[in-house]
Amino acid sequence: MQERAIPAFELTRNYQRIKNEVRQGIDRVLESQHFILGKEVQEFEEEVASYLEVPFAVGCASGSDALLLALMALGLGEGDEVITTPFTFFASASCIVRSGAKPVFVDIDPETYNMNSQQVLEAITPRTKAVIAVHLFGQMCEVEKIAPHLKERGIALVEDCAQSFGAWREIDGAPRRGGSLGEVGCFSFFPTKNLGCYGDGGMVTTSSPELEKEIRLLRVHGAGQTYFHDKIGLNSRLDALQAAILRARLPHVEEWNRDRRRVAERYEELFAQADLGEAMVLPQEAPGNHHVYHQYVVRAQERDSLQKFLKERGIGSRVYYPRSLHRQHCFQEYLDSGVICPESEKLCDECLALPMFPELTPEEQERVVASVQAFYRG
Ligand SMILES: *Cc1c(COP(=O)(O)O)cnc(C)c1O
Repeated sequence: MQERAIPAFELTRNYQRIKNEVRQGIDRVLESQHFILGKEVQEFEEEVASYLEVPFAVGCASGSDALLLALMALGLGEGDEVITTPFTFFASASCIVRSGAKPVFVDIDPETYNMNSQQVLEAITPRTKAVIAVHLFGQMCEVEKIAPHLKERGIALVEDCAQSFGAWREIDGAPRRGGSLGEVGCFSFFPTKNLGCYGDGGMVTTSSPELEKEIRLLRVHGAGQTYFHDKIGLNSRLDALQAAILRARLPHVEEWNRDRRRVAERYEELFAQADLGEAMVLPQEAPGNHHVYHQYVVRAQERDSLQKFLKERGIGSRVYYPRSLHRQHCFQEYLDSGVICPESEKLCDECLALPMFPELTPEEQERVVASVQAFYRG
């Protein structure tokens, strides 16, 4: 008998847990017939600001827009440079080109997969106006190692928190959440993220009242008053239905992140028992970090064959990411020749995201690990 498939991620089990709350939220909006911004969005913004311990949160249409709005509000443009990592989702860097600035890629730390903070500092030039620090796969990067240097030079720190809602890091002895440390924090509520909605959605956080005001302006076509435009902005609003869904889901995100951490712990135990030697390297939680495991990304020898082997056994997995951004054709004309990021390229050949979602069961994880073991040990 064919065993039940184990997807890389899945949302229906999660929906069953919170169905009633979500439907109540949707009903509330339908009864009000108020669909764009409004009270539902405002209350969600306040709830997120309070959860993240940051003064301001501004909803927008997606994580990609959150990044673009951030760079626009910071006034970036032609002649400016923005440093970021090449091992991330495309949007972390496309926003730089769309803002008119030039992307500068530095390599990653091979253990955390996050950008190498020493190389960030070395890449700074007089034209550097911002650094986009991506907290990849649910783990924050070493913000405290770069933030003071950036502040000193008047360079903005933009946190890309799309994969790390709820992650925190101990800084100067206190836990600090991602999105509360830079000039701006950018979040995505794409359905598969740790806090997802049922469509597209995003958010920008900031401690600066000036930036908050600017971002609120830019998300409505730069119109301070309807039909009177102070700036050329975007149409990038979070809609009320998504905000209502998110309001139903936000109170559970701590619990779901805890569940994800439990899944990661179980993988660690099971893989330790499987004794795979060098064949597979598990993700590392750096000291002081509270990883929320948006993804569980291992380094695997013979990655492509392993992925195929798992697929034949009904086990889903994903390659995040198959090509380093400094090698993407669309960026070539914007980069200095000779950018080298060997760690990022190596990881592109080895990385594999195993099934990871809060509802993944111990039995399913045992099957995943047994199949990986069968692949390597025959
Ligand atoms: C998902 C993601 C984004 C973009 O978010 P969207 O809501 O899909 O536009 C940006 N950066 C990273 C790191 C992401 O994972």
